[in-house]
Amino acid sequence: MASKYQAPRGTFDVLPEQGRARRRVERAAAEILARAGYEPIQTPSFEDTELFERGVGKSTDIVRKEMFSFEDKGERSLTLRPEGTAPICRAYLEHGMHKLAQPVKLSYVGPFFRHERPQAGRYRQFHQIGLECIGTDSPLADAEAIMLLSDLLGELGVPGVELHLGSLGSLAARQVYLQALKAHLHAHESELCDDVRERIDVNPLRAFDSDDEGVQGVMASAPTIVGALEGEDAEHFEEVKALLDAAGIAYVVDPTLVRGLDYYTRTIFSFVCDALGAQSEIGGGGRYDGLIEQLGGPATPAVGFAAGIERILLALDEEVPAPGRDAFVAVADPSQRERAMALAVELRHAGLSAEVDLAGRNLKSQFKHADRIGARRVLILEADGSAKLRDMQTGEQRDADPGNLVDEMTGGGS
Ligand code: AMP
Repeated sequence: MASKYQAPRGTFDVLPEQGRARRRVERAAAEILARAGYEPIQTPSFEDTELFERGVGKSTDIVRKEMFSFEDKGERSLTLRPEGTAPICRAYLEHGMHKLAQPVKLSYVGPFFRHERPQAGRYRQFHQIGLECIGTDSPLADAEAIMLLSDLLGELGVPGVELHLGSLGSLAARQVYLQALKAHLHAHESELCDDVRERIDVNPLRAFDSDDEGVQGVMASAPTIVGALEGEDAEHFEEVKALLDAAGIAYVVDPTLVRGLDYYTRTIFSFVCDALGAQSEIGGGGRYDGLIEQLGGPATPAVGFAAGIERILLALDEEVPAPGRDAFVAVADPSQRERAMALAVELRHAGLSAEVDLAGRNLKSQFKHADRIGARRVLILEADGSAKLRDMQTGEQRDADPGNLVDEMTGGGS
């Protein structure tokens, strides 16, 4: 029965057979991040628009073109969150987390919204798993973030992943570099596409990301920020690389790596996966030492990553089989329904998965249904109070002690 309504463009329903694979990803992430001491945080699905304008940057694609913004009844401009870092920094400040022992290590999972042109791996509502480590400038924190994302992708078995690593230097060093980059772009203005030319002075780094052939030609001879790193910035980057080397994590230094958000400083990284085609980035992140100050707080160095759950699932391209059930409690007579339900509840409390018939089927249809849902054993409650137990794999059926059914099922009985 086709409905006249469909999920909005760029969104999708997660049906149970897809939900299982998704749950596996979320659970693996929750475990890996918890073992490293990252505590879960949740922030609202929408925030003041200004938070993203200040936090993500007015010249970014996200803020210029991709935000779902609306006015509430009090005429305040709100925006469905396009990313998680600015909201978490807002929460860090709002709840005085700078007074806690630093760094504060937070993890999150949830939906994000960007008004992009939908295609495989790019949606208008998507989900990210991420972490933020706020309050330290140690390269150990950068390396830890990278290692944890690497662990997650490894544990899930995502194939063909490559880690790209770069550094944008500190904000001050970046300003000097940006002057040199702008000068290079101005010198080649006639070879650039409109989009890049118009943004030379507001966001020259984006030129590295351009698909335009003319721009790519100009960028091939552009000065790179990695090549211009000096002093503490260079040391920081060397230390991150040394830590990854020591951990046996392979990476390629990519001097053209830039990320679509303005707030990054020093380390940036991106995990790409060939299997994904055009939208090849599975997750990435970096250091954002200036963001909290930018939002009105004290200068607070921080680093984090976000990985797209849908991209992980696309790269895995796997089906997680239905789990089956430990037990189905069937009734030979409708008079036994209450007993069946009570027994199923007891079995569930004992840690087993158990179902009863909710559709008034006769016994034969209950067996069929038990088979369909993958029940390994069926308990049959007879009208006279007796019970039988059937093993669905062997087809063997025997009498069961009606006073001891939970023990029989959990193997705890005598
Ligand atoms: P970003 O917040 O842009 O650094 O993106 C982090 C990760 O989120 C990317 O590597 C993708 O895996 C995922 N992602 C970003 N935008 C989208 C989108 N529109 N649809 C699906 N996944 C996305």
